[in-house]
Amino acid sequence: MTTVSSISSVSLVSSVFHFCSISVFGDSMLICLTPPPSGPFGPSRPFRFLILGEAQCLYSGRGDFSRPFGEAEASPTQSRPNRRNRRNDEIDETDEIDQMDETNEYLERRTVERTRANRTLAENREDKALFGLYRACRLCPRGCGVDRTRGRRGFCGETSTLRVAAIEAHKGEEPPISGSRGSGTVFFTGCSLRCSFCQNHQISHEGLGHPMGVEELARTLVCLQREKGIHNVNFVTPDHVLPHCMALVRRLRRLGCKMPVLYNLSGYQSLESLRLMEPCADIYLPDFKYSDRDLAARLSRCPDYPSVALEAISEMIRQKGFLFPLEEDSDGRPIPAQRGVLVRHLILPSQVRNSLDALTMLFVEFGKDLPLSLMSQYTPIKRPSAISGLDRPLLPDEFHKVIEHALQLGFRNLFVQYPEEMDPSDRPFVPDFTRPRPFAGNI
Ligand code: SF4
Repeated sequence: MTTVSSISSVSLVSSVFHFCSISVFGDSMLICLTPPPSGPFGPSRPFRFLILGEAQCLYSGRGDFSRPFGEAEASPTQSRPNRRNRRNDEIDETDEIDQMDETNEYLERRTVERTRANRTLAENREDKALFGLYRACRLCPRGCGVDRTRGRRGFCGETSTLRVAAIEAHKGEEPPISGSRGSGTVFFTGCSLRCSFCQNHQISHEGLGHPMGVEELARTLVCLQREKGIHNVNFVTPDHVLPHCMALVRRLRRLGCKMPVLYNLSGYQSLESLRLMEPCADIYLPDFKYSDRDLAARLSRCPDYPSVALEAISEMIRQKGFLFPLEEDSDGRPIPAQRGVLVRHLILPSQVRNSLDALTMLFVEFGKDLPLSLMSQYTPIKRPSAISGLDRPLLPDEFHKVIEHALQLGFRNLFVQYPEEMDPSDRPFVPDFTRPRPFAGNI
């Protein structure tokens, strides 16, 4: 029955109309039927049927297709004033081609709009899948499995609401990261590692920060780029808010922001999360804090830290290679890095053995070309410590033992914070997140 009726329809169409064209534009189709001047429709402008993809809309009519749908159809005299005085039988194939050109233009515009709309839909679907990761959260190796979308909190202390403690053009990172104008640093509330000596304890332990949406955060970063000329976007310990970070990077790209995106990480990352990050990351700045499992257990409650962190850093290097460039320009200013991995190690007071073994492990795993930053900025905070000896700053002697070991191993891409060059009275490395500029000492 269907076939007979289709054949009948085609015969009827071909007997009534003498010109028929079908054009396909992306997932839309235009059918144009021109009745002969002597046929049942008399001299007339063509009938046109526009079928939009996914059957969202079916439009038919004989009006001006260059106007958007929903607007009142203009009369032929309004749409084609130069033809006002022509008779209908003067409309020939040249008119057809002119009309088709208008229609083509409209449809091309429409296709672009629809492609944009489809992309947004696809992204929305992707966001939905991403934010679903908060449901039985396993974003970090702690693998708490709690449903953060229902307000539950795992070890990191945060629900699925993004909270931010500070955003600033930060100049306290290594020269290829801070460059001359600073790194656009975002400090998120919460942390999946929560070391007992954390210098950012106000946000990692005490929950300082305020809720912020992806859109607002993206626009703030774009403003920071315009006003301060930041070289990159820098997410500080973002594992527990990874879905938000990925949505944010996508939003930044749509706003035309092409700065490198940097993940400032504790080293305690799961491979699954790192693989998710890969398309949204350019630079990784992981710590390698502990070679000593017992120390990791006592200070950060993760005895598996050494093996997890080495595996995580391997994955980061597989994705991005070593940090580059590591050079300065002709005026001696650091050239901002574009891509790669730079590993950091904070030397803890009274824990020199941990540092020496950490450097040996890094050398054995990744070789002497690994870009490595040795930090001496440890400052005791006013909290009881699980370990004696952490209640004082690092001694120069302790620091020099570690740097000597790094040089003996042959590390040649080293960034070093000499304790002698730091002024302890400024204490610039313990930020105060209750102030509008938490790092006032180093900006
Ligand atoms: S991100 Fe937080 S809730 Fe999720 S697994 Fe890690 S510590 Fe647990």
